[in-house]
Amino acid sequence: MPYSVPRLSDFSPAVLDEAARELLSALDQESAAVDSESDWKLYRDRWMARKNGALTQLNDLWLKAAPGQNKRDVGQRVNELKIKVEQTVEATLSRIQSGTSSSRLAAERLDITLPGIRRSIGAEHPVIKTMNEIIGVFRNLGYSVEEGPEIETDYYNFEALNFPPNHPARDTQDTLFIAGQDTKALRDRLLLRTHTSPVQIRTMQKMKPPVRVVCPGKVHRNDAPDATHSPIFHQVEGLAVDTSITFCDLKGTLDHAMKALFGSNVKTRFYPSFFPFTEPSADVQISCIFCDGKGTRDGAPCRNCKASGWIELLGCGMVDPNVYGFVDYDTAKVSGFAFGMGVERIAILKYGVDDIQLFFNGDVRFLQQFA
Ligand SMILES: [Zn+2]
Repeated sequence: MPYSVPRLSDFSPAVLDEAARELLSALDQESAAVDSESDWKLYRDRWMARKNGALTQLNDLWLKAAPGQNKRDVGQRVNELKIKVEQTVEATLSRIQSGTSSSRLAAERLDITLPGIRRSIGAEHPVIKTMNEIIGVFRNLGYSVEEGPEIETDYYNFEALNFPPNHPARDTQDTLFIAGQDTKALRDRLLLRTHTSPVQIRTMQKMKPPVRVVCPGKVHRNDAPDATHSPIFHQVEGLAVDTSITFCDLKGTLDHAMKALFGSNVKTRFYPSFFPFTEPSADVQISCIFCDGKGTRDGAPCRNCKASGWIELLGCGMVDPNVYGFVDYDTAKVSGFAFGMGVERIAILKYGVDDIQLFFNGDVRFLQQFA
């Protein structure tokens, strides 16, 4: 039952003393029960609201009701009680506010003995790691790195690389075209690049010889995924154009690169091949790194090289003079070579992986082995 100010019929000092004592006791009791700011607001209003608060009642029921001869005494007592009520209401607010802030501080205290949140450091994906190793080998030979768009035009992916429209060599690269481009001229149609060779064209368009660049990147072909095929894979291509570059330079460069990647015992051999943008063209084989080129391992035929002692690894050739025509190089003055290799193919050999899909499945147990 909340306190309410009593109506007095007797205004003698003894009765006033008793009534004041009861009022103050109720004030303190209610104050002690306040423990939140919303409680406090109700408490403040009960005592101090202009309309029907206890102080207003005190005015009406005691001061105004007091007979003339008691008014002075009652007025003095009412003023003292007023000050007391205001002070107590104020003090109550201070108490809950300081309580809130000290409990908040207690909750927010920093426990420096807790172990921190550890984020384990990532590692390079084996494909990227291998790609960077290949780039590193050519960087040491003075090559710089060039990159280009993965979505290319037919012109850069084929035409400027000496694949004329309807040339059968286009069929060897199952191309993913962007749909709905039938109204565009063939050379402007967009596709997912099937090789990084378009970057060679883009480089020669913006750079005059001497040019020595490697072009790493992702390429796409419409191949069904299996142990040796993936619709996405990575290539590193290289291009060197200068005056008087010969096939000997090409052989020496790639022989050095293969030894740097697979060990100094590795031998290379070149045999004729065909690519539209190089003439002459060659495929490069390295001596089998599993059987040291012997073709047999532990008395049995080597499965990795099909007992031949050689593994086919990359394509290369002297840049076809027709290609220089597309980039405004003087074919009478310059010559050069180009080569390209599949990064996954090299990673498979280096790490003895038997399924190319493992590189793309994202299985951390597999990937961690290369970290
Ligand atoms: Zn072998």
